[in-house]
Amino acid sequence: MRILITGGTGMVGSAFQNIKTDHELILLGSKDCDLTNRSETKRMLMHFRPDGIIHLAAKVGGVKGNSDYVADFFHDNIVMNTNLLDLAKNQRVPKVVSLLSTCIYPDKVKYPLTEDQIHDGEPHHSNFGYAYAKRMLEVHSRAIRQQYGLNYVTAVPNNLYGKNDNFDLDNGHVIPAIIRKVFESKNSGNVPKFWGTGKPKREFTYAQDVAKILLWMVENYEMPEPLNIGNPGDTSIFDLVVKIQSLLDANIESRWDDRMPEGQYKKPSSNLRFAELNPGFKYTGLDNGLAETINWFIDSYPNVRGV
Ligand code: NAP
Repeated sequence: MRILITGGTGMVGSAFQNIKTDHELILLGSKDCDLTNRSETKRMLMHFRPDGIIHLAAKVGGVKGNSDYVADFFHDNIVMNTNLLDLAKNQRVPKVVSLLSTCIYPDKVKYPLTEDQIHDGEPHHSNFGYAYAKRMLEVHSRAIRQQYGLNYVTAVPNNLYGKNDNFDLDNGHVIPAIIRKVFESKNSGNVPKFWGTGKPKREFTYAQDVAKILLWMVENYEMPEPLNIGNPGDTSIFDLVVKIQSLLDANIESRWDDRMPEGQYKKPSSNLRFAELNPGFKYTGLDNGLAETINWFIDSYPNVRGV
């Protein structure tokens, strides 16, 4: 199959470069095609005529970016998603796998997060723009399936990390921010300051695992329900800092700034449906994934995104 991957220059997209597959993969970034531009997107799809699409492109950010730029997160994501799905449907692309996120689940919800609860209440106020745009990606995929009979499906990962992440301290995610703070503090001797209290717990999945699962979904997943695909089992942000300090061999003091935002206390997810459908799949453990990411970061610094 010729599979087009939007967001191919991002963290998850670039992870496809290391995966062995017989499919032809075409990785695109925003310079190749701005998906907020409908005519550019139409031209791009007509040019490549893919058999399948893995739709990763999104305006992505951490807890502060999501809340400071809430309207931009809503607008850019809903326009990109609507253009891509509608034009893929017009061209009758038979399969589209789109990536959602566990942070679109309702704020008040039963844990663990199960796929049937996605639309059962308001998302957390800190990221409602991004969350509603992503929820509509799920609605749009299901609507196209119902009306046009095309096999458009959605996957829901939890927090992701890996090589080529965004290491910007204001707008990045928690793992790259901690890696950068610890690494730079070790070199400068300054005491690093982490956001919040360290108490919230999060689940983390290695980006390369997500790339493998999405290719499996192109070949095997044909259901209208979204599929939770994240590695379950949560870690507190405090424990994450300890792990990263140890992997960077940084025996340094640290401070916590409880005036900074830290999002929901916890959001464990259930991947039971995925585990039943793909029982042989083995996730990369957090320690191994962090070690690979940190080695890549040290080798690439300062030529990493966000620095
Ligand atoms: P990322 O590293 O920030 O990459 C985003 C990608 O989207 C880049 O390739 C970027 O292209 C592309 N993009 C942004 N605006 C675009 C536009 N207007 N037109 C075309 N392409 C555009 O993000 P990521 O972390 O890999 O995330 C990939 C997917 O996973 C997203 O859908 C995200 O919502 C989902 N997800 C991520 C996480 C996480 O923790 N990172 C968690 C759950 C779900 P350029 O770089 O070329 O501009």
